[in-house]
Amino acid sequence: MKEQLALLRELQRIDLQLDELEDQKDDIQEKLEENRGFLDKLIDDLENQKKELEEVKSLRRQKKDDIEQTRSQLADRQEKLKAVSTQKEFGAVETEIDVLKKNLEQTQEEALHLDESIESTEQSIEEKEEKIVQLREGIASEVADAEQQLAELDEEIEARHDRQDEAREEVSKRVLHKYDFIRSRRPGLAIVPAKDGHCEGCFMAIPPQQFIEIQRGETLEICPSCQRILYFWEHALDDEDKVEGSEPVEAG
Ligand SMILES: [Zn+2]
Repeated sequence: MKEQLALLRELQRIDLQLDELEDQKDDIQEKLEENRGFLDKLIDDLENQKKELEEVKSLRRQKKDDIEQTRSQLADRQEKLKAVSTQKEFGAVETEIDVLKKNLEQTQEEALHLDESIESTEQSIEEKEEKIVQLREGIASEVADAEQQLAELDEEIEARHDRQDEAREEVSKRVLHKYDFIRSRRPGLAIVPAKDGHCEGCFMAIPPQQFIEIQRGETLEICPSCQRILYFWEHALDDEDKVEGSEPVEAG
């Protein structure tokens, strides 16, 4: 059983490394998607702003027509004023002229506001377009980096998978089944050391008789509190030497 437990510890190290590698991959992909989402939103905003600009410009053209029309009406009335013969007619045309002048003033003011709006929208569009270019370049280089990182991670994962398969072959079905069962129920450690009468997984005390069994290392012992597989801590002292190219992984 001691050997089985040692194999299991090795399998666990590989499994934890694989978890860690998969997490790293997820992080990279998440970050890429975040950046792409940001870029898409900026492009959307830009499209909306361009539409908005077209609408304002069309409104501005309309105001220009209105101004022309009012001016021509004004000229017409001023011409008419010269020809009127009665005081009453004069007053009526003068009132018309006043109204037209007010209209003209108001329309010119509105046109001015539209000019300002066009200018600021054009400036904002220009800034967004620059930002999009920068972001595209940034993302392109990030994608290249990320793809390389992902390829490296995949390579590492594949190598670990090979070793995982080997380790699983070497462990007995019964022990492997127990290990898989514990891992399926909670992520992280499935096999933990027992030290000083305690389970190092949950830090609960182990009954003295069971602790003796664990020290003997001849049976598969399960922590009565957290249900993890237990081994005597001293049995794992030379574990690291047996695993080629792997480093211990922090248990989550
Ligand atoms: Zn425990």
